[in-house]
Amino acid sequence: MANKSQETTDVIVIGGGITGTSTAYQLARRGYQVTLLEKSHLGAGSTGRTGGIIRQHYSNEITARMALRSLHVWRDFDEQVGGDCGWVHTGALFIVGPNDTDGLKANIALQQRVGIRVELLDGQAVRDIAPYFNVDDIGAAAYEPDAGYADGALAATAYANRARDFGAVIRQGVAARAITAQSGRVTGVQTDDGVISAPVVVNAAGPWGTQLARTAGYETPAEPSRHQIAVFQHPPGLEASPHPMVGDFIQGFYLRAETGRLTLAGSLEASEAENKADPDHYNENVDMAFNVAMSEFTERRMPPMRDARVGRGWAGLYCVTPDWHPIIGAMPGLEGFICAYGFSGSGFKMGPVVGEMVADLATGERQCPIDPYPFRFERFAEGTLVTGQYSYSIIG
Ligand SMILES: Cc1cc2nc3c(=O)[nH]c(=O)nc-3n(C[C@H](O)[C@H](O)[C@H](O)COP(=O)(O)OP(=O)(O)OC[C@H]3O[C@@H](n4cnc5c(N)ncnc54)[C@H](O)[C@@H]3O)c2cc1C
Repeated sequence: MANKSQETTDVIVIGGGITGTSTAYQLARRGYQVTLLEKSHLGAGSTGRTGGIIRQHYSNEITARMALRSLHVWRDFDEQVGGDCGWVHTGALFIVGPNDTDGLKANIALQQRVGIRVELLDGQAVRDIAPYFNVDDIGAAAYEPDAGYADGALAATAYANRARDFGAVIRQGVAARAITAQSGRVTGVQTDDGVISAPVVVNAAGPWGTQLARTAGYETPAEPSRHQIAVFQHPPGLEASPHPMVGDFIQGFYLRAETGRLTLAGSLEASEAENKADPDHYNENVDMAFNVAMSEFTERRMPPMRDARVGRGWAGLYCVTPDWHPIIGAMPGLEGFICAYGFSGSGFKMGPVVGEMVADLATGERQCPIDPYPFRFERFAEGTLVTGQYSYSIIG
């Protein structure tokens, strides 16, 4: 049996969510030795509690391109990665009031420029797609026919399985305690099961990323906050399954269908970042007041839902940065240390492309056409935050 204290690999990836497993898969298929450490089980963090929405409606070019590149993987996951990610095709509608119509048009133009299939609709055209929607207050809508959703735990497991097929070692129940370094470069990771040596370490620990980076001397502005999802069961007679996902920027919330005649609802308000949470101790259930608010919003947008039954929702963690965009980059001053967290409520859909981008950073090879440079940690000190051309809320 190998002596644990002697274990050496090319890259250690910390975190078994979508970011870590996709990165491990990309590295392993390129021929690198990878060890992934997950302190609990695959999908135990935000990924296992995600809303799973996969849309391309973004308001800056780089995130729109990332979402589109990832979509190609999600909708053809078995062919491109292998296994089941739980993909369900629904389409998506992004609805704004009259004051935001110009901004919506600008975003649609941006998205079309990068190759996203999206079109501008008026209220009547929305009803042609979803006759059970109330459109009285709509200025305009963007319709994205290719959107859908997938399952976080299934996707992380599939990526990890494929990484294993290419030789990666996936160690669940093993926590990274500290990043080890010498003379300005990473030497490995101190785990609760011995030391592992590697010249490159990827911190993909999601809401725990900031506390892990601290062990290497970095204070990153990415903080966990609690995000809730309400679940409603459709009343008998409502033929709305699976209805399109809705980003309702008039009421500041979103809806998506779920199998079993269910609809999920969550908030789109930036104030979500104020619900600061300790990632090891937070309330994983939904507040009564939240269920009431989401039920009112849902009924206003989908009136037949007035007779819906409230199901059992859940809460998970966003990891939010000051500009609501992730930190993806090699950390300055410590060669071989790469961070990839702070996805601020958008990280699931980006998983496939982020794995490629992080593998590029880890290896120095450039296989992904999208350069992660805008997401470097240094942007916060430089004041070069990532901002959208036009933003209705926290959509990125
Ligand atoms: C309720 C909710 C709804 C969401 N809805 C959407 C959505 O619709 N669409 C979308 O794109 N995104 C959505 N998101 C965001 C998305 O789920 C996250 O951005 C994404 O899952 C983050 O994945 P990750 O792999 O970076 O982090 P995580 O999934 O949190 O993975 C980090 C992992 O690291 C492990 N870990 C932590 N510390 C250590 C350590 N020291 N040693 C070893 N392992 C460690 C944890 O156990 C965890 O499994 C939602 C999030 C929530 C909470």
